[in-house]
Amino acid sequence: MGRPVGATIVRDDSSTLDFDSLDEALAHGEQGRIAIRYAYGPDLLPPADEPVTSMWRYRDLLPLGDGPISYPLAIGGTPLLASPRLRKLLSAPNLWLKDETRTPTGSNKDRATALVVESALRAGSATVTCASTGNVAVSLAVGAAAAGLRTVIFVPADVADSKLTLMLLAGATVFKVREGYDAAFKLSRAAAREFGWYDRNTGVNPVTLDAKKTVALEIWEQLGRDVPDTVVCPVGDGPTLSAISKGFAEIVACGATKRLPRIIAVQAEGCQPLKRAWETGGPVQAVEPATIADGIAVGDPVSAGMVLRDVRNSGGAFVAVSDDELRRAMETLASQSGLLAEPAGASAFAGLAQALESGLITRDERVVALVTGTAMKNLGEARPSGAATTISADLDKVRELLGV
Ligand SMILES: *Cc1c(COP(=O)(O)O)cnc(C)c1O
Repeated sequence: MGRPVGATIVRDDSSTLDFDSLDEALAHGEQGRIAIRYAYGPDLLPPADEPVTSMWRYRDLLPLGDGPISYPLAIGGTPLLASPRLRKLLSAPNLWLKDETRTPTGSNKDRATALVVESALRAGSATVTCASTGNVAVSLAVGAAAAGLRTVIFVPADVADSKLTLMLLAGATVFKVREGYDAAFKLSRAAAREFGWYDRNTGVNPVTLDAKKTVALEIWEQLGRDVPDTVVCPVGDGPTLSAISKGFAEIVACGATKRLPRIIAVQAEGCQPLKRAWETGGPVQAVEPATIADGIAVGDPVSAGMVLRDVRNSGGAFVAVSDDELRRAMETLASQSGLLAEPAGASAFAGLAQALESGLITRDERVVALVTGTAMKNLGEARPSGAATTISADLDKVRELLGV
């Protein structure tokens, strides 16, 4: 089973510190993001002749001991879609969409929640906590409820109502923090320490990175055990991208391929601290987020050093997309691919569309864009170009309006 053999801390300036045990790294965790290492080899990868139906098929690369999985919800095995109409529209015949809306609460956060809750159950914790702008909180509230754990969640006071309602529906205890997300994050961490709760906070708990890396393992398997040329990935706090990078690096470390995909990182124009740092080569300057993509509206990302390193090592690049591009991407995904994505969920595709225009990505490349969150939870910002017409129930009127 998955046995960590050490861990590496990646600091804000992308420098690294290696430790021989995860516990040692955790003791120095305040210095940066922790990546768990395993004794890599072909035996850690699942057999090739099985369907990709669950995240737990990668458990030899997850920090779990032996014993059955107790987490009760279905997780992982999300579709990799060819989307024929979209391929035609964009003249991009090797385009794929990884549909992470197909999870218990409709966002990629559910993978991390599954492993966090499983770890909390094994540790005998009764309460888990996190701070979140929305999707993490909904995911944890629902996943913990299903497993019978209490959840205490800290959100910024301007949290989207639709997301708050879902947390409360799942029975979570929710605190709206007036000072905003960064204060909510610190409060959640302090409460975890003070009251002995299990801490799900991303950027703190290395388990979340390992859970989210399973997206990369699934993509590799779904492409017939091959890696794409390019992966397009949204970036808020950064773990989604770093996890993708870790997943592909571990496939290489296990000896299954020699190639890493190029990673294109997508930020919102109104919140692009990492893209700016990428361009200037200087330290990350925190910004005040101004974007409809709340899932990636992180002004002071915790995983900055790791993300910049991962994009650099992959030969990748950063792009930023405007709110208009995000709205257009939502509409294109819905009308061409049958995918209902929230703004952050459509951001990688918006970045891909821009990168195809600019030539950063070529039309014949094998490229995968992550679709990370569903519109069902967060429709407020959609502005469809069409509108409904109100009529009396009269077939002649329908004929007249349609001009048939
Ligand atoms: C969290 C999230 C992301 C990416 O966030 P990271 O913090 O960079 O991991 C992208 N899309 C959606 C919908 C999200 O909820």
